[in-house]
Amino acid sequence: MGKLIISLNTHCCILIMLSLIVISSPTTHSRQQRSGPSVRLAIHGGAGTILKANMTPELEMQYRDKLSEALLAGYDVLKKDGSSLDAVETTIKILEDSPLFNAGKGAVFTHDGTNELDAAIMDGKTLKAGAVAGVKHIKNPISLARMVMEHSPHVLLVGEGAEVFARERGMHFVPQEYFYTERRWKQLQQAKEEETRTKDSLEQQKKALSDSTEKKHGTVGCVALDRMGNLASGTSTGGTTNKRFGRVGDSPIIGAGTYANNHTCAVSATGTGEYFIRSVVAHDISAMMEYGGMSVGQASETVVMKKLPEIGGDGGVIAIDKDGNIAISFNTPGMYRAYIDDDGKPVVKIYKE
Ligand code: ASP
Repeated sequence: MGKLIISLNTHCCILIMLSLIVISSPTTHSRQQRSGPSVRLAIHGGAGTILKANMTPELEMQYRDKLSEALLAGYDVLKKDGSSLDAVETTIKILEDSPLFNAGKGAVFTHDGTNELDAAIMDGKTLKAGAVAGVKHIKNPISLARMVMEHSPHVLLVGEGAEVFARERGMHFVPQEYFYTERRWKQLQQAKEEETRTKDSLEQQKKALSDSTEKKHGTVGCVALDRMGNLASGTSTGGTTNKRFGRVGDSPIIGAGTYANNHTCAVSATGTGEYFIRSVVAHDISAMMEYGGMSVGQASETVVMKKLPEIGGDGGVIAIDKDGNIAISFNTPGMYRAYIDDDGKPVVKIYKE
């Protein structure tokens, strides 16, 4: 009898403990609290002078197909309760493997005819971040950025040091020839011709840098919100055509081209990196939300349409706030972009609409 009482008591205790765990679990709580589609994702494939007049229907279809493929792959991760970090990495790897975008396979050339790649990823829950710059033989720089975040005490590794770390971690290496595409090579030759014409003045060189970015868009980025309410962002790029070797843009600079914070938003930027670094674009958007009480839309518009143009910066951002609101702002004629809308449907856009 005594045994039975003890076992009943134990049983009751276990039941009470289990129900307490369920009630206090942040997972369950956040799932019940969130309304509407509980996971969100937005991507970009670069901003610039993207005009329908310069596009063939076939090329436009290729861009749309690849953007949808990447978007849906990331969305699938989120729908299966995967993390926002996994969604960001999955999405960006698909874009890096395509020759269409200026990241991974389709990276632009430096003045010296090499390819130097930059990437960053950030976890909005922990504010941990990882980034690499100037890597030359890494097939998927976004995955190396994630390894820096998860398997090193550092945030940013550059050049040879980043590649030695990559080798230790068993990353996939490719020869420089892997990044050769005729289209990017021709763009380099054009940029060099323009440069010879404008060689004398620093102001003209700055303008040429801006013009070349404007025409030769293609950096890729992704922001995601997962079922647990965690935000993440990532950006990957070959930088700007005809850049000096050793030049690093905004994409791997945390707070400039990439930023995520569960209290505010996740941001990924694209445009002439020098201006985005000087304007600390991604963190500025988060800070305006945190300290100024702005919405993600207001903050993004203020930075992209007001603050950046004041110093001559061109480009755009994608952002998601902690409640799943998506903001996409750009001050260029077009931006490759795609997102999952309020009804969970994929939307792909290229031009100003
Ligand atoms: N932001 C990139 C960089 O400056 C280029 C781009 O987004 O087109 O490296």
